[in-house]
Amino acid sequence: MNRDAMLAELERRGSEPWDLALIGGGATGLGVALDAAARGYRCVLLEKSDFAKGTSSRSTKLIHGGVRYLRQGNVALVRDSLRERGILLQNAPGLVKPLPFLVPSYRWHESPYYGIGLKMYDLLAGNLGIDSSRHLSRGEALDFLPNLEASGLRGGTLYYDAQFDDAGLALATARAAAGQGAVLLNYAEVMGLLKADGRVRGVGVRDIESGREFELTARVVVNATGPFTDEVRRMDDSKTLPLITPSQGVHIVLDSTFLPGDGALMVPRTDDGRVIFMIPWQGKVLVGTTDTPREDAPLEPQALPGEIDYLLEHAARYLKVRPSREDILSVFAGIRPLAMPGRGRGGEKTSAVSRDHVLRTSESGLVTITGGKWTTFRKMAEDTVDLAARLAGLEARPCTTGQLALVPGAVEAVQEEVAGRYDPRIACGEGEVRRGVQEEMARTVEDVLARRTRCLLLDARASAAIAPAVATEMAKLLGRDGKWIKEQVAEFEALARRYLPPGA
Ligand SMILES: Cc1cc2nc3c(=O)[nH]c(=O)nc-3n(C[C@H](O)[C@H](O)[C@H](O)COP(=O)(O)OP(=O)(O)OC[C@H]3O[C@@H](n4cnc5c(N)ncnc54)[C@H](O)[C@@H]3O)c2cc1C
Repeated sequence: MNRDAMLAELERRGSEPWDLALIGGGATGLGVALDAAARGYRCVLLEKSDFAKGTSSRSTKLIHGGVRYLRQGNVALVRDSLRERGILLQNAPGLVKPLPFLVPSYRWHESPYYGIGLKMYDLLAGNLGIDSSRHLSRGEALDFLPNLEASGLRGGTLYYDAQFDDAGLALATARAAAGQGAVLLNYAEVMGLLKADGRVRGVGVRDIESGREFELTARVVVNATGPFTDEVRRMDDSKTLPLITPSQGVHIVLDSTFLPGDGALMVPRTDDGRVIFMIPWQGKVLVGTTDTPREDAPLEPQALPGEIDYLLEHAARYLKVRPSREDILSVFAGIRPLAMPGRGRGGEKTSAVSRDHVLRTSESGLVTITGGKWTTFRKMAEDTVDLAARLAGLEARPCTTGQLALVPGAVEAVQEEVAGRYDPRIACGEGEVRRGVQEEMARTVEDVLARRTRCLLLDARASAAIAPAVATEMAKLLGRDGKWIKEQVAEFEALARRYLPPGA
């Protein structure tokens, strides 16, 4: 994928209307682009920042049915998610991998309680299951997770889910969509909707890099903007009621010594009735997450000090060697676009709001797809394209993504190479920068360090230290000058500070 080539392709396709114009390049929009293009529809996707810059690069990185939703009684969501998990494990084996989880038991009734619940989880997965859950004795649990708090430990339940690299899967989906003929442009903001006779007929776009503004007409426009859903809906109808309620989730990243082994830990009930995961991820440990309602939805949200303390406190209860603020390598926050179907905001606790997706068509024909999970992005896309094709009067064609392979990209291919890294602490060198820019449309230092590689999320200090080298290499490839290098380094250093606890 190359941005100049995408711009040239837009130009070449001229003024003929697109079948679908998609707003938003996160999991949802990219999934719709892939589904639509694979059915042979002409489709263009506009992303105002980088692909997956929003929520889609800030998840817990689990492809899962959601044990928690089972406890909430949402069996249909769990069953559908487990089915999607199975499809992703088959279609993207290089990107989505099985991961064993331990639910520890410190009270006598916990093992039977979690054991029965997780057997039901196995059953709901049916023949797409990974492996059966089972009881572990105290000794087996400590062998599995040697840093688990041993005092009072009775044993645990082992179960299986799947893990992925969210930005990696987003880029793989973008590449696959481009391969099927979709045109995808990052740094292209939709500024408004074009209307004729009261119907949405296209989008007004600003190329953020050149400042050029242009219009694209389309048979149907799809709003897939996650936390920005209501902003775009208001472009259509300024009086529309909110469809989503934003909720912030925070993760902290620790050294792998806090969770040695290949397995993950699931804390089934926190003080506020949530779950917390501690997961091995890219050589580090990810701990999360929180669920903090908020009024606004910034593109770069920041963790609240209380959220960091909450995660540290809960981690400390379950680990022998306990992490402190100084051990945090990175902190990242994301905003869940939780759908509140049928109503405006209802004052519910956001952890109790459903993770189901919602598909809406406005009076003027704007299609909005929101809510849901990364896990269900393929099914969300299928439902959206079915609806959009009907509304646009396109020839009906069946969805093909159930059997469509998604493969790791060029950057992942070089990340195994230890030689040539700018800093031994993180997997980034000239190879990653070159491939990120030339093959995956990276335009800024942040694009390379946050999403083409995951360095910023894995070690914010080490990432800031290599920003000058990354900027210098990018400037060569993109034909930028010394002023650009300076600005990029300054911007990235300021960003990296936001990925560390306040005062660190
Ligand atoms: C803390 C946390 C943990 C999570 N963990 C998991 C998990 O483990 N597993 C799971 O399945 N799900 C998880 N989720 C849910 C999952 O991440 C989200 O459901 C999914 O990423 C939402 O994707 P999206 O494309 O709808 O939104 P986003 O990724 O936010 O994408 C929307 C995009 O629209 C763009 N945009 C906005 N306005 C415009 C405009 N005017 N013009 C052009 N572009 C625009 C934005 O820049 C953004 O890139 C988690 C979510 C959070 C917050």
